[in-house]
Amino acid sequence: SVVIGVLALQGDVREHARALEQCGATAVRVRRAEELDDLDGLVIPGGESTAMWKLMRAFDLLEPLRKRIGSGLPAYGSCAGMIMLADRIVDGADGQETIGGIDMTVRRNAFGRQVDSYESTIDFDGSPLDAVFIRAPWVESIGAGVEVLGRVELPDHPHGAAGGSQHAGSRPEGPHRRIVAVRQGRLMATAYHPELTGDPIVHRYFTELVRQSKNEE
Ligand code: GLN
Repeated sequence: SVVIGVLALQGDVREHARALEQCGATAVRVRRAEELDDLDGLVIPGGESTAMWKLMRAFDLLEPLRKRIGSGLPAYGSCAGMIMLADRIVDGADGQETIGGIDMTVRRNAFGRQVDSYESTIDFDGSPLDAVFIRAPWVESIGAGVEVLGRVELPDHPHGAAGGSQHAGSRPEGPHRRIVAVRQGRLMATAYHPELTGDPIVHRYFTELVRQSKNEE
């Protein structure tokens, strides 16, 4: 079996642990750098990315996380966790840093203040999934090495299509669809919270990714 850590600084840790156990993984809570050593994979939960970033700084976790994830630890970030795995953020707080690893730009709080919470049936890796977005980011642009696992059809709201600036060299999205699930190698991220809706499809995908990565070593 595989051991998957859930970063337990902040956010909905228990729901992720439960979902991982349902997929046959052993879930452990992680708060200290030493605890990263024994993991086969790591989940970074949803919560608040600025708080998470400050706690990572306070607990001396940011550099160890960068190092461990940079050297091949599989990781999955949900919502605030997606922000933490992004190489670039738009609308971050002053000086806000990420762990990085996925060659993408994410827009923080992208769905706009009037759409704090949004539910929609979307597509994950070719299967339908009920997704819940809570003050969620979306992916503004991706590099060539990033695989899209899912997109959302935007709700009709004033902030939505304003989304914006596409970076040179990126693959632009149409005005009404946004990327909300991605994978780059051993890293994956979703803008929504699959741990809250009870469908194990995303956690199963990640657990399988962790198993395969472990077998390759
Ligand atoms: N808006 C939050 C942030 O910027 C993310 C919200 C969430 O994780 N549900 O980190």
